Amino acid sequence: MEYYSSHINKLIEQLSHLPGIGAKSAQRLAFHIMNMPRDQVEQLTEAITGARENVQYCKCCYTLTDKEMCPICSNPKRDHSTIMVVENTRDLAAYEKTGKFEGVYHVLHGAISPMLGIGPDDIKLKELMQRLQGDVKEVIIATNSSLEGETTAMYISKLIKPTGIKVSRIASGVPVGGDLEYIDEVTLLRALEGRVEL
Ligand code: ZN
Repeated sequence: MEYYSSHINKLIEQLSHLPGIGAKSAQRLAFHIMNMPRDQVEQLTEAITGARENVQYCKCCYTLTDKEMCPICSNPKRDHSTIMVVENTRDLAAYEKTGKFEGVYHVLHGAISPMLGIGPDDIKLKELMQRLQGDVKEVIIATNSSLEGETTAMYISKLIKPTGIKVSRIASGVPVGGDLEYIDEVTLLRALEGRVEL
């Protein structure tokens, strides 16, 4: 890579830190950026810094949002007594796209993984338990059907059971190990409707 200017090398290196971007893709992207009009490059960098600086966790559900409280949590028409627990904001978006879920969400930002050293304290679980002190009728656990997702679901259900709040798990129609965001809306709806009480 010494054939390139140090600036390009730096850009390639930074891009290669992004998930799913290998050395080759990073080079391709870097050269694409070099050929972009200057104002377009400025818009790109502004979009990146703008998003990083202005996006925060919703103080209620912990999804990523521009405001203190996200549009879903601040919508009085949503059913605030039904909370769907998801691993990340992308999963929330996948369920929102179906347009059929009227409750609210809780975003964990991860899943419990003893193998990766991610414990209950590393995800937004305490925050979920705090929310349950309010008027909550049902918690729907919609973590992925991966080992980590299942471990997390079991852990959460054990925590919630003693409170007497109904806990359910989305149906296992969702392909094993499948990332929720890649599953089509029909499958998601079926998984939601066919949820079973834990
Ligand atoms: Zn929210």
